[in-house]
Amino acid sequence: MLDATDLLSDVFGFDQFRPGQAEIVEAVTRGENTLAIMPTGGGKSLCFQLPALQRDGLTVVISPLIALMRDQVRALKAAGVSAGCLTSGNTEEESDAVFAALREGHLKLLYLAPERLAKTATQDMLRRANVSLIAVDEAHCVSQWGHDFRPDYLRIGQLRETLNVPLAAFTATADAETRAEIVTRLFDRQQPTTFLHGFDRPNLHLAFAAKNSPRKQILDFANARRGQCGIVYCGTRAKTESLARALSEDGHSACHYHGGMDPEDRRRVEARFASEDGLIVAATVAFGMGVDKPDVRWVAHADLPKSIEGYYQEIGRAGRDGAPADTLTLFGADDIRFRRQQIDEGLADADRKIADHARLNALLGLAEALTCRRQTLLSYFGEDAQPCGKCDLCETPPKTFDATTPVRKALSAILRTDSWFGAGHLIDILRGQMTDKVKARGHDQLPTFGLGDDMTKHEWGAIFRQMMGHDLIRPNPDRHGALFMTDKARAILKGEETITLRRDTITKTAKGPRVRQLVSEEDAPLLSALKAKRRAYAETQGVPAYIIFNDKTLIEMAQSRPKDLDAFARISGVGAKKLENYGAGFLEVINGAEAALPHPARRKLAGQDAGDLFDLLNEAQTRLKCGEDGTHKPLSCSASQLAKLAELRPRDQMAVEHLLGDRRAERFGQAFLDILAQA
Ligand code: ADP
Ligand code: ZN
Repeated sequence: MLDATDLLSDVFGFDQFRPGQAEIVEAVTRGENTLAIMPTGGGKSLCFQLPALQRDGLTVVISPLIALMRDQVRALKAAGVSAGCLTSGNTEEESDAVFAALREGHLKLLYLAPERLAKTATQDMLRRANVSLIAVDEAHCVSQWGHDFRPDYLRIGQLRETLNVPLAAFTATADAETRAEIVTRLFDRQQPTTFLHGFDRPNLHLAFAAKNSPRKQILDFANARRGQCGIVYCGTRAKTESLARALSEDGHSACHYHGGMDPEDRRRVEARFASEDGLIVAATVAFGMGVDKPDVRWVAHADLPKSIEGYYQEIGRAGRDGAPADTLTLFGADDIRFRRQQIDEGLADADRKIADHARLNALLGLAEALTCRRQTLLSYFGEDAQPCGKCDLCETPPKTFDATTPVRKALSAILRTDSWFGAGHLIDILRGQMTDKVKARGHDQLPTFGLGDDMTKHEWGAIFRQMMGHDLIRPNPDRHGALFMTDKARAILKGEETITLRRDTITKTAKGPRVRQLVSEEDAPLLSALKAKRRAYAETQGVPAYIIFNDKTLIEMAQSRPKDLDAFARISGVGAKKLENYGAGFLEVINGAEAALPHPARRKLAGQDAGDLFDLLNEAQTRLKCGEDGTHKPLSCSASQLAKLAELRPRDQMAVEHLLGDRRAERFGQAFLDILAQA
């Protein structure tokens, strides 16, 4: 069997496994039924692709995402692996090529859309195809209670039994019910070997900001990341359009995306996003499933997401290649009101609504957090973590104050007006403003009137927002959003508990956006040149740029500046096939055109010990070209002879003769054997 670490570097070009991958790969290769729960971007695909190469026969991969399948097949082919897919997006030629490869028996991975399983022809084809493993991506699609339910996924369990082969299931959805359902439906209730992998995404920078001229906040954020690919999630369809326009006017390449667009337009945006460098898409959450671009450098939320799970999934679309990526989530009192109303006015039953409010609370807790953002987020997923040192709150600890007194004043204003009013009017009362409404209702007679005139309207607004964030008050769906006090606030009102709030989100805007540099100033010009080279390759081949090399690989190239193919081969993301195809081109960008290219036989050995050996042998033969004393007829070995020597490492004169013939063995044999003995 091929060695996993060799395949990892030769085919995929990675020098080590990511956390968790090695164990999963081993279990899948051993032929165990496995269920792996890994966060988006954790590197799931490798966990079935690599075992597929180690095992005999064909691995069938089932995935609901056509674009993603086509992408993976393209990437596998670029790495020299025989792979194909059968989806509704195939042209006839593509499908014919897949069937031919199946007949010839050299196909290693076959990606199938679940709909295909409904066809008897597919089932027959699979029975004949020497399938040795089934891999199921997005396995949570088998859950009838989830958002992504795919009825055809219910056929997979049956397929596993018919083919009688191991099954490996992957998902990023961790909750216990979904897991149990996967076990029931895919594994016939037999507990598979299960891996639950961490949810931290250390390369993502997390930040939230209270809204304060939100459009400018988003534009500033994008401007600080000019030329980098990003997504702006918006709460409404209309906003996707207006923000995309504003971004374009600001000189960005931007477009919008939402579920109301016709399918053709949506597909066009998806295609542009996949292939263009540095495009910004302003989108609703409809832009999600299937967005698999690894080099998205930032995600911003122009409005508060729906839940903490939604937030995690959406920011998770940034930085899947592992290189640094930034996120920013804006939120305000209106967002909180909107999200609460959405839940209250939805069609879900009462229990579900309570659960949805709780999930929104978790997100609001994160938005209003006072200590490490990452720690707060991970604790929601049940993971203990230390403060990360690099989220917005770790970088700039917030200024806080004991807000018990103002909060009690606000609660009392709500109670004294029988929970009939919204924040605007309540703030007028607190600040002692003689408005018409105050006069008409006689609210100037309340004991709370003017009790809070030590703070501005803006400051009070921030306090009300934070009170909503801490779920002390909620809008009443039956009273057009009038605020009422929750049970949670009772202890504070009674003076049994105190509360600390942030002061800085009230008074000043966060400091200007950090400009994110992917590399030092010195390396930046080279990085742009490498990107241009990548774009040129991508355009000639009609593939997205990251299929050639992802950002992380280019960054490493710019920083380490490899001098030759051996050094180039050591860069993470450079496998044998890509070395052969692109090595020379990129080296030329790094070192200039004059960097000489070695013989193809030598090139094949690049990055291996045999490569160094080849060079030593080559030196020796040059020295001995005209014999020890330089008087004999010139004689030399071909590059492929040297490559053979370096790979096979003969130990005695006989073996050398066998490879080189007796004339060359006589001239060079002893010198070569000396070198090989020391290797
Ligand atoms: P997901 O778990 O979301 O399916 P992918 O399989 O698409 O994630 O992997 C995300 C990114 O991580 C890809 O760009 C992939 O090339 C990269 N990756 C996967 N494994 C490794 C590794 N061992 N070393 C470096 N990069 C890796
Ligand atoms: Zn932190």
